[in-house]
Amino acid sequence: MSGSGRIDEKLASLKDDQYSWSLEYFPPKTSEGLANLFPRVQRMVSALSPAWINVTWGAGGSTRESSLELASRIQKGIFDAQDDWRGNGSGGCDVCLHLTCTNVTHESIAAVLEEAKSLGIRNILALRGDPPRGDEYHVESESQLAHATDLVRFIRKLHGDYFCIGVAGYPEGLVDHGESDIERDMANLRAKQEAGAQFIITQLFYDADALIAWYKAIRKHGITLPVVPGIMPIQNYHSLRRMANLCHLRLPPTLLESLENVRLDDALVKDLGVSVSTALVERIRQETDIRAFHFYSLNLEKSVTRVLQQVGAMSETAMSEAWDEFPNGRYGDSRSPAFGEIDGYGASLKLPPADAIRLWGTPVDEDDIGNMFAAYVQGTLSCIPWCDIPVWDETAQLLPSLIRLNSPPSKGGRGWWTVGSQPAVDAASSTDPTFGFGPAGGFIFQKAFVELFISDEDKQRLVERIAKDPSVTYFAGTADPDSFESNVADGGVNTVTWGVFPGYEIAQPTIIEELSFRAWRDEAFAIWREWEQLHHPRSATRQFIRKVHDSRWLVTVVHHDYKDPNALWKLLTE
Ligand code: FAD
Repeated sequence: MSGSGRIDEKLASLKDDQYSWSLEYFPPKTSEGLANLFPRVQRMVSALSPAWINVTWGAGGSTRESSLELASRIQKGIFDAQDDWRGNGSGGCDVCLHLTCTNVTHESIAAVLEEAKSLGIRNILALRGDPPRGDEYHVESESQLAHATDLVRFIRKLHGDYFCIGVAGYPEGLVDHGESDIERDMANLRAKQEAGAQFIITQLFYDADALIAWYKAIRKHGITLPVVPGIMPIQNYHSLRRMANLCHLRLPPTLLESLENVRLDDALVKDLGVSVSTALVERIRQETDIRAFHFYSLNLEKSVTRVLQQVGAMSETAMSEAWDEFPNGRYGDSRSPAFGEIDGYGASLKLPPADAIRLWGTPVDEDDIGNMFAAYVQGTLSCIPWCDIPVWDETAQLLPSLIRLNSPPSKGGRGWWTVGSQPAVDAASSTDPTFGFGPAGGFIFQKAFVELFISDEDKQRLVERIAKDPSVTYFAGTADPDSFESNVADGGVNTVTWGVFPGYEIAQPTIIEELSFRAWRDEAFAIWREWEQLHHPRSATRQFIRKVHDSRWLVTVVHHDYKDPNALWKLLTE
């Protein structure tokens, strides 16, 4: 660490023939994931020498403790999880802490700023976060800051010039409340500059033309702040599609075509991701005066390192294969620093309120909710609060069982609402269009599992049934964080997806164990609360959703006989 640690000074001192880069990490959802991230960050800091490191913030302060801990450890260079993160350290890397301002009080933001200052942090990325819960959410909003500009002013008011403040920019436009408006964005960015912001980090993008045109346009609009483009190397086909959906990204046709050609081979998708990011950086360097780039690392090590090597910013070094380089869904390995898809920043509905109400209506009883879940698994509803993209191809095989489970009893169903599932697979090819992952020439195995919201009574009966069958395991919990049941011994791990490939050890990208279950359970119940907020406090819908939240269990059931594709579904529907 040298100098004041402020990003404005780092950017101002960059010469035309120099490169500079920053890395972004999010706090993993589990304490083991967090502890395993520290040595990874330490390794990346020493191998890649980033100019600074960004640490994300969960909307509404949901990751307050873990974000501050991660930020403090990086700032101070305290990478041993046993050591006190508020203590003294040396040899860290300057941090830029993200901070959001909506749906929290002024006092809590002021307290975070005080703490950040006491930890030696000099840079804040001032963001709005989720839209403020004003009229649409039927809650009091008078004590809140509503926009990133308010936060910039608030920081300046409390701390003068102590913090260097950055803000977000959107090369492809910000879609807010379902609308995008370039003139509005320009005026907003200018307002952020006038409020005291000192640099801009952009939303990720894959269209270099869009970034270059936007960069020229902001300069024409009198925005003089340095711009740091946000680069996210593609890690996996499905996560890119989700991200594109969530952030309204344009994927250029040539990229889409190349991606479709390799989508079944994750190793090739990663290679493509590295070459696409390399080309973005090189083109922007050639056609603009931008010299600093921001990498959304997704807490992974390899792709960012390869991009920096390929653009010539650092020399080639041997890299070992990281154990969690094939990222995965919500049931990845909870010990992995990359555990938990970056779904925006915390539990949210991922839809503007008006769209959410249009799609999911105003349920007032279990039939309404069962119909919504059944429509989703049948593909007539594009998303539900827990799943923001249509069901995957592999679910087609399970369709009759899933319809039966989700439909209300009045339609012959069970009224057990599913938020995740996978069929059993016995040695599919790793290039199979539906089940394949990893390099070509391998074989994929899966155990069937399902995640259900069910009533207390049904949970009891299901657990009694499971007790008769040694090849079935389960985890269950309610919204109460202390409630937890399972027939898996403490520390037991269920591998539910694994692959064997030429030249690799067995890869097991999906395991289900207590920690990953608990992390997802907390998020899944928080989503009911988000949904409830869309409706007036005295409405029947709000009261009904709260009742469901308070009474249902989330249960994950795994059937270990992967050779029998029907075993789990027979057990659940018999
Ligand atoms: P703002 O600049 O406040 O703009 C939001 C909308 O409000 C715009 O439509 C704007 O035109 C409008 N607006 C602004 N001022 C006014 C006004 N006075 N009156 C009326 N309308 C106004 N989210 C997280 O939760 N955690 C993170 O760590 C995080 N990191 C991010 C990092 C980057 C680089 C980026 C690009 C985004 C990040 N986000 C994060 C997401 C961000 O919170 C969302 O994109 C959010 O929807 C908008 O944030 P903003 O700061 O750009 O909002």
